[in-house]
Amino acid sequence: MNILVINCGSSSLKYQLIDTDTEKVLAKGLCERIGLDDAILNHTPSGKDKVVIHCDMPDHNVAIKEVVNILTDAENGVIASLEEIGAIGHRVVHGGEKFNSSVPINDAVMAALEECIPLAPLHNPPNIIGIKACQAAMPGVPQVGVFDTAFHQTMPKENYMYAIPYEYYEKYGVRKYGFHGTSHKYVSQRAAALLGKPAEETKIITVHIGNGGSIAAVCGGKCVDTTMGFTPLDGLVMGTRSGIIDAAVPLFIMEQENLTSKQMSDILNKKSGLQGITGISSDMRDVSAAAAEGNERAILAKKMFAARVKAYIGQYMATMNGADAIVFTAGIGENDKATRAACCENLDFLGIKIDAEKNDKRGDEFVISTDDSKVKVFVIATNEELAIARDTKDIVSK
Ligand code: ADP
Repeated sequence: MNILVINCGSSSLKYQLIDTDTEKVLAKGLCERIGLDDAILNHTPSGKDKVVIHCDMPDHNVAIKEVVNILTDAENGVIASLEEIGAIGHRVVHGGEKFNSSVPINDAVMAALEECIPLAPLHNPPNIIGIKACQAAMPGVPQVGVFDTAFHQTMPKENYMYAIPYEYYEKYGVRKYGFHGTSHKYVSQRAAALLGKPAEETKIITVHIGNGGSIAAVCGGKCVDTTMGFTPLDGLVMGTRSGIIDAAVPLFIMEQENLTSKQMSDILNKKSGLQGITGISSDMRDVSAAAAEGNERAILAKKMFAARVKAYIGQYMATMNGADAIVFTAGIGENDKATRAACCENLDFLGIKIDAEKNDKRGDEFVISTDDSKVKVFVIATNEELAIARDTKDIVSK
């Protein structure tokens, strides 16, 4: 079955058409600058060069039509007609407490997604628009919602509640939700398979470090804690996000600089993290290049980044009474051996030892720990699109 995987942002739309029988990507692409001037569609059919199309995309409805056109195009398309799309899987950012697994989209689900908008005001509206645009362009094709938050819904209450007046949880749903769930689920299941054990018998720490970053403690196949919180701002030092911070700090800065909550939110989400510390870049490659040239703030940013990951590894080993494996994934986790090594440095007292030679490899799935390391450390390439396609197929096949 061919599944179209859709990830809608406010002005972008990413897609992959995946044949779930072979799990091959038939085509993938990205619409950018939707609703703005100079919109473009980048489309890459499998085994062929990327095609760049400049076209007017005033809204997501038009963008979806362009995607459908190019997928069925005589020259650059990969299917003859829309009939060859069996189902559509949507990445949805926030399912609140309403969804602990992927679901077939129907009117009740759409209403629940609308209710989750206050929790994810930037992300859920474009996800909803994407679903509606697909319903209009491909009526009758079943659609499935796959939530970033769903995998984390198994956290025990003591791990997801904040120690603030309980009424804010009751009134507004203020609690930890966690994000990147599709990735944490996918790589933790792969790690269990590589350990040769059923997920139920494993304790795994998944370290997803890309532009955004989060760690999850996965005990018996279920998430028991994660570093992102009510929003994706919490936890690790990220490209432009601060991660965990004394809540009094933003209050103090707002008073000193006379800032609104919107301005402070911009600082914490878009001007902090690697970008904020270095003043150079949010991209780890740039920060590493500056550090190699002796830039003090870049060196500091890299140390802060690794120290934070390491502290959470320790925390989650305490949460789970140990770990069988740690998994590094996403842009930095998959590619940056120096950061991986720094995150695991001096953790031999916990049974974590990195083998420098094994860590110096590239590939989709490999071990980087020494043979005598009690905890196995893996690099596993995440594949959220494939995970969405699998969930979608499972649901529509039922
Ligand atoms: P996103 O969260 O946007 O999906 P990615 O998972 O693509 O982000 O990760 C982006 C991050 O990965 C950037 O900080 C980038 O510098 C880092 N990265 C990508 N390739 C490499 C590499 N070869 N070496 C070091 N860092 C890398």
